[in-house]
Amino acid sequence: MPRSGNPLSASNCVVTPIFHNVAFFFEDTEQFVNYKTDKRNRGRYGRYDNPNWSEVEDRLATLEDSEAALLFPSGMSALTSTVLTFVRQGEKILFLSRTYRNAKALFDEVISGFGIKAVALDQADTDLFKEQFLKEYDTKCRMVVIEMPSNPHQYLVDLAFVRQTVGPDTLILVDSTLSTPINLKPLRHGADLVVHSCTKYLAGHADVMAGSVAGTVARLEKLRRTRDVTGAIPGPDTAFLLNRGLETLPMRMANFESVGATVAKYLNGHPRVSRVYWTGLPDHPHHELAKKYLLGHGGVIAFELCASRIETTVFVDKLRVPYMGTNFGSCQPMVEQCSVFTYYKLAPQERESMGITDQLVRLSVGFASAEILIEDMEQAFAQTFRRPDRRVSNAWG
Ligand code: PLP
Repeated sequence: MPRSGNPLSASNCVVTPIFHNVAFFFEDTEQFVNYKTDKRNRGRYGRYDNPNWSEVEDRLATLEDSEAALLFPSGMSALTSTVLTFVRQGEKILFLSRTYRNAKALFDEVISGFGIKAVALDQADTDLFKEQFLKEYDTKCRMVVIEMPSNPHQYLVDLAFVRQTVGPDTLILVDSTLSTPINLKPLRHGADLVVHSCTKYLAGHADVMAGSVAGTVARLEKLRRTRDVTGAIPGPDTAFLLNRGLETLPMRMANFESVGATVAKYLNGHPRVSRVYWTGLPDHPHHELAKKYLLGHGGVIAFELCASRIETTVFVDKLRVPYMGTNFGSCQPMVEQCSVFTYYKLAPQERESMGITDQLVRLSVGFASAEILIEDMEQAFAQTFRRPDRRVSNAWG
């Protein structure tokens, strides 16, 4: 990673200090006029500029192989701001039905209120997806939103097919939160914009919410204008913590890769597990696409148990190493039974359409070793299938 150095830091600190600063002064009007043409070298006001943002934005752009990047206070605000910047009333968005729950809600519930038509396409079956895509794509389509790999099944989309199919006026946006720029470079495969929930792997310590968008300078200047006006800005501490997380991203991803592979193989061979969703496994339904696009597979593994809903709950409750909670990509191992946790508000039919079965569990390996995670799962399997847990059975009524 190149030395970051910040023109505004006015110190020789190895770590850029946190700039809790709202107003920037100018020596004279000429300096202000220069600011207007070259904003990056001098700040003006805290909603437009912050040295901690600039530092981390440069670093994100380098990681993403993009001309520029912009920081937002969360992954959802990055996605929302991007959609509102580039898509207008009467236009259309194509997105994926198996996608992060709130991204789907953004399209189904919020964007539709702005007169934008959002159509969901199921990417689980690649041939069917292509067929549906050709049917739904038309000249009104301004944006295609692809979460890749998808959360939690890690489905992929053939980006080359999408690029060849859409015209130059359609932007391809890839949310590659689950792969990070270490494992996927969407811009190399025809994407126009890359969104991340930096809250996950990029910051990596479960102590900061942030989002980012990468792309060309011309597009990001349009997006910057939206951010300037809407005020969807991160605090300087957010940028500082994210920058610190990025320092160790390659090392953390290498660790997740090796632990993820061992745990995924263990689960794949377990008699109580019916399916494992980890793109590095040859029997993941999109393993061939993974070979085409991914440089690694990460530390998030989704799997389905050969068990009832209650047995799956007991198994998750018996785990002692991961925290039960809704996050992934951080140091802390995390686990959830998806249908009763992140997706609990959804109607059963909606869960079913998203492939969220009652047996589906998502594990983020964190910094636990594979041995410790496997030992923990062994004891949870043993307790689940030999001693039914009364407390949980009662809780389900
Ligand atoms: N994109 C994906 C793939 C996610 O999993 C999430 C959150 O879980 C988001 C976007 C939203 O990010 P944030 O929670 O930072 O708003």
